[in-house]
Amino acid sequence: MKKGKKLYEGKAKILYAAPEKGTAIQHFKDNATAFNNQKKTIIEGKGILNNRISEHILSNLNQIGIETHLIKRINMREQLIKIVEIIPVEFIVRNIATGSLTKRLGIEDGTVLDKPLIEFCYKNDELNDPLIAKEHITAFKWAEENEINWIKDQCLRINDFMQGMFKGIGIKLVDFKLEFGRLNQGEVRRIILADEISPDTCRLWDASSEKKLDKDRFRKDLGNLLEAYQEVARRLNILHEETNIKPVEFGKLRSIKNRK
Ligand code: UDP
Repeated sequence: MKKGKKLYEGKAKILYAAPEKGTAIQHFKDNATAFNNQKKTIIEGKGILNNRISEHILSNLNQIGIETHLIKRINMREQLIKIVEIIPVEFIVRNIATGSLTKRLGIEDGTVLDKPLIEFCYKNDELNDPLIAKEHITAFKWAEENEINWIKDQCLRINDFMQGMFKGIGIKLVDFKLEFGRLNQGEVRRIILADEISPDTCRLWDASSEKKLDKDRFRKDLGNLLEAYQEVARRLNILHEETNIKPVEFGKLRSIKNRK
């Protein structure tokens, strides 16, 4: 598919115009960033894994009637998506308290929440994505009250689905971030799920050892980030030899394949 001009470049992804109106090509980079870009590096192959994992999760969500921006994956690093106008709010869904929540409120790390907690952050790097209330979202007209309620329902449905999906492969879904956008196709105006869902945007712990299988490996200098993302993809049964990342991982891939 012919890539048009660059529409936007973020920390981990680039958007290019696609031939069909209203669509774009979302390209996953290998950049890893944390603490609002203060810590950064390149992890070769991360973009390939996130492209594949996000495609898997979003297409599963599409199948259960949760509309997302994903049209299809087109190659190792790219997917075709519907262009939306992103609502500048990060919807954070938490099942277990960790990260900024525990720091902010002094809650013990690993506290299991009785029911999912949804938090809102204003998507603004200069301000460090500050935590906001629902009232800020309506006051500044980022979304209307009924839209926020609808998005919260979607967040809970997505959480239910993903919790089950990860539980089945021995992974605890600790928390994750979602972004939604407005689809404006003439008369049709809907809010749909956008961005990505990957180990960059979720916290995933091995169910028995609680080993971190997500971007905290980078944030906390735990090492082996690529191996952790591959482990998630392997358990989801979507790690193909086509994910040509590093010779050393190729050896592992072959041995995994031979075991089948
Ligand atoms: N998250 C994200 N992008 C952000 C902020 C958070 O994808 O800009 C994800 C993060 O990976 C985690 C969840 O949202 O799965 C909750 O993150 P938290 O608020 O604890 O932030 P952190 O501790 O990373 O600052």
